[in-house]
Amino acid sequence: MKKITGIIFDIDGVLYSGEEAVDGACYALNLIADAKIQFRCLSNTTRKSSDSISEKLKDFGFIIPKENIITPAVVVSKILNLMDIKKCFFLVTEDVCDDFYSSGLISDEINPEAVVIGDAGQNFNYERLNRVFRILIENNRYNKNKSIENNEVFFRKKIIVDKSTNKNGYSNKNNMAKSEKKDENMTEIRTEHINSVPANKVQCKQISFFALEMDKYWMDKDGLSLSAGPFIKGLEYATETNAYLIGKPSLLFFNSSLSSLGKDPHETLVVGDDIITDIGGAKNAGISGALVRTGKFREDKLISSGIKPDFILNSVSNLPEILGLK
Ligand SMILES: [Mg+2]
Repeated sequence: MKKITGIIFDIDGVLYSGEEAVDGACYALNLIADAKIQFRCLSNTTRKSSDSISEKLKDFGFIIPKENIITPAVVVSKILNLMDIKKCFFLVTEDVCDDFYSSGLISDEINPEAVVIGDAGQNFNYERLNRVFRILIENNRYNKNKSIENNEVFFRKKIIVDKSTNKNGYSNKNNMAKSEKKDENMTEIRTEHINSVPANKVQCKQISFFALEMDKYWMDKDGLSLSAGPFIKGLEYATETNAYLIGKPSLLFFNSSLSSLGKDPHETLVVGDDIITDIGGAKNAGISGALVRTGKFREDKLISSGIKPDFILNSVSNLPEILGLK
């Protein structure tokens, strides 16, 4: 193995487990920092913002700035900025929205350019899920039609969704109400809009559908609880669309961490307690993986996965030894 100059740590189950820091974890991280080995913390959590995670880690004795904490919300914010998308329907917890708003994204539940779903907890209610369902199924329908009717449908779609916009770009609700009642008039009015709405005012992109994670369930204080996966799968099933997965084990998530570190895969090590999402994801990205026997580690899962970690450590406290720091 080449010299390791960058480390990607999973957080839950590696740095802390339950409500306690893993024994020796703080000391190990200090040794690693002293050796000038850069690291990032990569978490699949979609309930907390990077700032909240940083604060929680501080309670356990870890001083890790939020800029070094990478979550699916942080990564999707960067992607949306690159896509020049600002208006999103967020079906997430309030806390995680900090990462979206601080990167310039705004909430728009009427005319979104993207739908972003994480583990929303109590926000997964029928009303909100159904609103997302309607947006996605409308989007799916008009994109299917697009291939037949060409780009014009995009322009028409905009006009149907944005009821406050008339041919001059100003509010004219009566006009739109009339057009919706009389279908034969609608084409005429729409055509007028098509001819008069400036191209840069028209939403001519497909609405993007992002899943921050797809976990089935997680262990809450009072027992196993549904995570985002079952709700996202349900929306995919109902709308015949597929969400784009951001979190682990997606290749994109690991590549984002490498990019944040400024490292290549061969000089980086992933340390995690999940053989599939952490170590499997790392291997898929060409990064070495060290599995720790803390957190959710289970011997039978390791065997049945067929994945071979480069290292198996009793805990993260043993990491300095394999890095030659002890
Ligand atoms: Mg973990």
